[in-house]
This record gives sequence, structure tokens and C-alpha cells, in this order.
Amino acid sequence: TDGRVFNFAAGPATLPAKVVKEAQADLFNWKGSGMSIMEVSHRGKEFLSIIQKAEADFRELLKIPENYEVLFLQGGATTQFSAIPLNLCKPDDVVDFIVSGSWSDKAYKEAQKYCKPNLAWSGKSEKYTRLPTESEIKLTPGAKYVHICANETIHGVEFKEYPKVGEDTILVADVSSNFCSKPIDVSKFGIIYGGVQKNIGPAGVAIVIIRKDLLGNAQPQTPVMLDYKIHADNNSLYNTPPCFTIYVCGLVFADLLAQGGLEAVEKNNIEKAGILYDAIDSSNGFFKCPVEKSVRSCMNVPFTMATPDLEAAFIKEAAANGMVQLKGHRSVGGVRASIYNAMPKAGVEKLVSLMKSFQAKQS
Ligand code: PMP
Repeated sequence: TDGRVFNFAAGPATLPAKVVKEAQADLFNWKGSGMSIMEVSHRGKEFLSIIQKAEADFRELLKIPENYEVLFLQGGATTQFSAIPLNLCKPDDVVDFIVSGSWSDKAYKEAQKYCKPNLAWSGKSEKYTRLPTESEIKLTPGAKYVHICANETIHGVEFKEYPKVGEDTILVADVSSNFCSKPIDVSKFGIIYGGVQKNIGPAGVAIVIIRKDLLGNAQPQTPVMLDYKIHADNNSLYNTPPCFTIYVCGLVFADLLAQGGLEAVEKNNIEKAGILYDAIDSSNGFFKCPVEKSVRSCMNVPFTMATPDLEAAFIKEAAANGMVQLKGHRSVGGVRASIYNAMPKAGVEKLVSLMKSFQAKQS
């Protein structure tokens, strides 16, 4: 074997082995340029060809309409928690937040500095185990936008359909942990954003897809680095971008297109998640997933066992068998298997087989 493990980390996360090898092969002397991609000017022809191809492939993957900009930015998804209200709102504008887990809660709290966020729904009292029905969402008439987290990485709750917000309302989605895991109708959103370090590449880039008519209204004090119009006008090259991360993202986009695009990717992801949830649900309660079935994430699968000791023993045994990073987030405990695009089906099958043998040994 090549010594690689099955890495179930939530992010930074496993990348396609093919892509890692390709980056390695190209590292020392990129396409005969005599330089690595870490060493070239971000304004030179080598890097320009990379970022332009990355954007073109990304647009093709997500079928992004012409009236949207694609921005490669720094500061992670967390920086967009502030950049979005700064770009879209005046300080007195009301925006609606659907809080379905820790990440949307963080976005909601950050927005309080720059506008007037309203809690349209929160799943906190139910420990973020479900999503609201349409009638439970208390939208504010005239709200500037409605913010959702498409997939809560820690709690494993994923929107399968997006809330209906009305023609004139801007829907904004944090897709950090299910970016490129399935097709998405971009035209339904004003902004789609996320960090790349789960499904798309190494840490260091956040991608923002923004409808062009939303650009150019940033609050006056908006730092230049947070002003989406500045980045759009400069094709994400206003300052030095994280060139190497963008390069690896480009390799991943090309790989996803070669796999048949996001319809094919989604089919795979549904199959992998199904294998894991079936194993949990057929364990007679030995393993439990707290999330309501209809909104269980295809990316992050949290589950618990009877005691923290048992969970620790399971995680340890998994690691001894080449399956790592299965510990749940420190805020919720338990086990969490992140099974992003690049997790092979064989990794999920191996995990399920350990779950069965571990349970058998305990009873
Ligand atoms: N949103 C979601 C859904 C996330 O999972 C994360 C990171 N785990 C973030 C936002 C924050 O992203 P970053 O670390 O890139 O700022």
C-alpha cells in the first residue's frame, strides 16, 4: 500500500489521492517552467492561466450564470460572516438568520456588529437536530437577506431543499462543508460562499459566488480586503492571492469534471452516506445518530454510543486500523465521520465493517 490512511477529518480534510500526487509531481518544476507554482508571480502568465482555468471549471461544475461573480478570497468563511453584512446592508437593515447549528450561530452573532439580524428560527433548544418547516420560519418583511448554513459541519444537519424566501429576498448560503458535493441552483441565491478546505482544496481560500447587482454598496468603513466589488473588479487579484491553494483547487475542479460533474458526485455521496446511516440505524441502538432522518448530512455524520469511554475505545481502534480523525467536535463529543467527495466508498465500507465487529465484541 501507499501508506495513506482513511482520513475522516472535518476540514482540512482528505483530498483526492490523484490530485495530491499530481501536485507532488508538478511541485518542483511546474510544466517545464523551471519553477514551482509557489514561486511564481501572481501576475505572471503561469498563475493567470491557473486561476482562469480554475474559475472556468468551477463555473462549469456549478453551472454558474453569467450575472454572478466568482471570487477567490482569504480569511476563510469566517471573514465572510462580517463581509456579507458589510457589503449588503446599511447598519439599520434587518436580516433574517436561520440558525441550525454552531456555524450559522457564529454568522448570526458576527452580523450583529454590522446590521440588525433577526433570529428567524433556531434549532438550539433541540440541540440542532432538525431543520424548520416552512411555517416555523419567522421571516421579517423587507429583510435585506436570509442567511442559512446549507450544511452544519458539527451537527450534521443539511438542507435538502432551500427555504422559500420570496422573489425579492436575497438568499445567502454558507456551503463550506457541502461545496461541490451536489448540484445547486445558483440562480436562487444572492450569495453562496464557503471555505475550500473540506471538499475543494487545502485551507487558505474562501470562494464567494455573488450576483453582480449586489456589488458596490458596501458600508463606507468596509476594509478594502472585505469589499467584494474591489475583488470583482480585480478578478480576485487585488492583492497577492494564496496561489498554491488556488492551484490545488483547480486540480480538484478538473478532477470533479472528469468524474462526470456534480450529478455523478452527488450520486456517489448519497450512496456513501446511505451505507453509513444504514449501519447506524441497523445497530439496534448501539450507534445512534441524533439528527432527524430527512435532513441528515451526506458530508458529516455524527453518531454516539452508550458512553464516552466506549466512543473513545472505538475511535482508538479505528485509528489502529488506518481510519483517523473520527472524534466528534469538542463542543458535542461523540464520533463524527466526515465523508466528503474525496473519501472513497472503500473508506466508508471499512468503517462500517469496524462498527459491526466492534459492536459484536461488546455484546
Ligand atoms: N462555516 C462552516 C459550515 C464551517 O464548517 C466552517 C469551518 N469548519 C466555517 C464556516 C468557518 O470556516 P473557516 O475556518 O474557513 O473560517
